[in-house]
Amino acid sequence: MTGVPIALARRRPDPADSWALVDRFGRVHRDLRISVTDRCNLRCIYCMPEAGVEFLPRHELLSYEELARVAAVAHRLGVVRVRVTGGEPLVRRGLESFIELLAGIGFDDLSMTTNAIGLARRADALAAAGLRRVNVSCDSLRPERFAAIRRGGDLRVVLEGMAAAERAGLLPVKVNVVVLAGVNDDEVVDFARFARETGRVVRFIEYMPLDGSGEWERARVVPSARVLETIAEHWPIEPVPAPEEDPAAPATRYRFVDGRGEIGVIPTVTQPFCGTCDRLRLTADGALRNCLFAREETSLKPLLRGGADDEALARALRETVAAKLPGHGINEPGFLRPARSMSMIGG
Ligand code: SAM
Ligand code: SF4
Repeated sequence: MTGVPIALARRRPDPADSWALVDRFGRVHRDLRISVTDRCNLRCIYCMPEAGVEFLPRHELLSYEELARVAAVAHRLGVVRVRVTGGEPLVRRGLESFIELLAGIGFDDLSMTTNAIGLARRADALAAAGLRRVNVSCDSLRPERFAAIRRGGDLRVVLEGMAAAERAGLLPVKVNVVVLAGVNDDEVVDFARFARETGRVVRFIEYMPLDGSGEWERARVVPSARVLETIAEHWPIEPVPAPEEDPAAPATRYRFVDGRGEIGVIPTVTQPFCGTCDRLRLTADGALRNCLFAREETSLKPLLRGGADDEALARALRETVAAKLPGHGINEPGFLRPARSMSMIGG
């Protein structure tokens, strides 16, 4: 038994709810990112080293049932949005069956972040399983550069994946672009035009110190403010008011004043938005993390495999949230990177 008032958990929790996932700073946690694998069929330069990556042995991964059990407990504690990620989620076999398990829990939103390789032929099945939306990573609209940044992959396949997602009703398709100085920052306007022409929401992400090679340097970060200035020189833009149901969304949204299209920026490094963060992360091997940059995490595997009841899991979730720090500290002198890199955590 969970001991959590399930009827109450159906409504949006507020910090006064005793069962809600509230931290010491009053942040109510409503968003769970679940990584299903640390493996990937690409090696993006800002994420994974080209060679020598060690992956988790298969038996270390939580089963879909174990991951879904944690998701169900989180749902009872007020989590309303789930995003499936990785590594590359599409490389884990039978992902559709996991989406079905999650869809059965009844989240308000169920999305996936993907590199879109293989998405074109799976979009219908994923939608039928209950997936609502996809975020597709795509860092260049020039085929050769795309392949150089992602160290593989084919831009055409990724664009086909986006189109198939739209046909399957996985809307809106959001396009994640990690902007790297001197690499693809000259494509900001092209991506803004792409957003205007396709109706896809392009989100420009600042490069974070979570690359597997440990080569991150501040000089490679393109501040979101500069991205917005560049776009505004071509088309007037205006902020989109944060929707009431999602004031904690990481992307600050902008629309073009003439009404054609939308973009977003995710300024994690230059303008951290930790004060409104409502996210929790579960890694493929069952570690619960209260921040991308957390240096401590709680392994749920011993509980899941040791016969613990849902109340014990709920306690672990609450304690992990309670221990959340006020901010990620990237810009503080003593900042230390977490032991896991992005593909091992789940972005
Ligand atoms: N493989 C999938 C993909 O690429 O979309 C999902 C996992 S990937 C780790 C999730 C997101 O993290 C992607 O949008 C990717 O571009 C982003 N990402 C990876 N490393 C990053 C870094 N060092 N800084 C900023 N974003 C990063
Ligand atoms: Fe793979 Fe996604 Fe990381 Fe690229 S960003 S290496 S596609 S996990």
